[in-house]
Amino acid sequence: MPIEHHPLPEHLAEYAAGVGEIGVDLVVACHATLCPTCRAEIEAMEQLGGAMAERGANEHRAGPPGSVEAATSSFDMDALVGKTLRAVDRLPVQVPVQAGGPGGGVLGPVFPAPLRAYLPAPSDIAWRRVLPGAARFDLEVPGHRGPPMHLKKLQPGLRIPQHGHRGQEFDLVLQGGIKDHTRARVFDRGDLSYADASTEHALSILPGEECITFSVAEASVEASHWLARMLYRKAGW
Ligand SMILES: [Zn+2]
Repeated sequence: MPIEHHPLPEHLAEYAAGVGEIGVDLVVACHATLCPTCRAEIEAMEQLGGAMAERGANEHRAGPPGSVEAATSSFDMDALVGKTLRAVDRLPVQVPVQAGGPGGGVLGPVFPAPLRAYLPAPSDIAWRRVLPGAARFDLEVPGHRGPPMHLKKLQPGLRIPQHGHRGQEFDLVLQGGIKDHTRARVFDRGDLSYADASTEHALSILPGEECITFSVAEASVEASHWLARMLYRKAGW
């Protein structure tokens, strides 16, 4: 199935410019590893950024010799080129896509290369069961102070009752699939489900294999029903 749900343009642009939040950048890098469309878009944005940096530096150099512009132009150029090169360095590497088998399957190829840098070996991931049918693994990234990043592992057929969000949430599907009943959308491997304070939805995990997501959430979810609220609190969502 082709990827249908992509990051918002501003998140692609922030990634390309090297100014994004690390968790969101990691979501974008993992998505782009699996999505040729977004990879091409990021490359185009980076080229545009590089061309603009070069043009800006040339305009600075046009200043009269001895002027402030002339004195600072080489410094500005270095900073801008350095920033562009750093962004290029972070371009995701394409990883061959290989579907996992039933019941979780082969986890190794499930995780895109940018994410693997932050994970132990797949067999060493200490999944923590948070609810029947749902497990979680929190990513520890030294020095990271942004929204928490975690993996979710959800059993096929699991229903996730109606809930809202208090902040932005990014769920990148790495294995299996999610059906969003409210928004009438299906998210398969590589698709990004984005929610914010305006999103209220009920979900279910598609039958077949376990669903694994890489998720970044600014805040916990807000369930409409007291029972769901209790369950989400217990799960730490
Ligand atoms: Zn995409």
